[in-house]
Amino acid sequence: MEWCVSMPKVELHAHLNGSIRDSTLLELAKGLGLNGIIDFSQVEHVILKNDRSLAEVFKLFDVIHILTTDHATVTRITKEVVEDFALENVVYVELRTTPKKNDSKGMSKRSYIEAVLEGLRAVSSVDVDFNPHCEELKNLSNPVLPVSGTNDKCNANARKKVFVRLLLSIDRRETTEAAMETVMLALEMRHFGVVGIDLSGNPAVGEWVTFLPALKFAQEQGLYVTLHCGEVPNSREIHDMLDFLPQRIGHACFFQEEHWRKLKSIKIPVELCLTSNIRTLSVPSIDAHHFVDLYNAKHPLVLCTDDSGVFSTSLSNEYKIAASSFGLGRKEMFELSKNAVEFIFADNTVKEDLRNFFNLAAKNLE
Ligand code: IMP
Repeated sequence: MEWCVSMPKVELHAHLNGSIRDSTLLELAKGLGLNGIIDFSQVEHVILKNDRSLAEVFKLFDVIHILTTDHATVTRITKEVVEDFALENVVYVELRTTPKKNDSKGMSKRSYIEAVLEGLRAVSSVDVDFNPHCEELKNLSNPVLPVSGTNDKCNANARKKVFVRLLLSIDRRETTEAAMETVMLALEMRHFGVVGIDLSGNPAVGEWVTFLPALKFAQEQGLYVTLHCGEVPNSREIHDMLDFLPQRIGHACFFQEEHWRKLKSIKIPVELCLTSNIRTLSVPSIDAHHFVDLYNAKHPLVLCTDDSGVFSTSLSNEYKIAASSFGLGRKEMFELSKNAVEFIFADNTVKEDLRNFFNLAAKNLE
């Protein structure tokens, strides 16, 4: 495990509210319990309960969202999540979150994302680069320089650095208009490290066509798009999603032969979340996980956590599971981790920086 922690890693599928520390969730619940807003013992039970089937997970998210409604809390959880990833040597994170409106807290989708950015600036244990680089900005019609693109407090080369980019999630419960609002916000916030759109939420809810206009518009405007795809058996939707040609997809648990053929021919990178897939019962056992087939086929893939808090995991642990379940040695794990750089939603300058970093790390880890 120690080696998996020390190896540099790239996280491309992490939901902000799914990545909160249990201790923080319990502290927030206690606070709301004392104010009589929630029944602490009930919420504690849901947080600590071990059932993480897909249906239970979405109930848990409803509880978590009650605990994280104000700007200060959104800022706090963002800071902690980035610090936790940095602590296990994650060098690049794409953090995704659903912008939320909450009139009672004076929160708009925009102010929610501003609170997330505040969290990135608040990180003190490591330098955070969430500054879009020149190349990322060059396609924008009216580029303005970011007000504060890093939290680079002491500017010393010796300090650890983590790149963070943001994906705005569309929840499958939303309407076409709400999805479009999220895409417009992502476009407005490109100068602050928002690089793309994710479609997520309960896969049993909503119709893919509802979100198609917003997703198409996002791609036309140069935003990257990743879709939760095949989390439940839904052959038509999987076909249509692949036809859309997203830049990446997540999960792919319920693919059939025809879907694999299509996916492999168009080579869309897949974000794989081993623990999440097992705990939600989307895959019957680790031996039956599609990692093996994709890995052997040399299909582009990246190991991710999905919801490190909800599923009590970490990116290092996901690599450890891959090593022990699929027989990967250190060299293979390192290559897997390094290859993820090629699938990030950031420009070539960032990719080149990361490639150099991995090459240097390879020497030190030998
Ligand atoms: P948030 O977007 O920061 O609030 O993170 C939690 C949200 O991410 C949940 O409410 C879901 O919409 C989405 N999410 C997290 N995990 C999953 C998953 O495994 N499948 C689909 N959606 C998910």
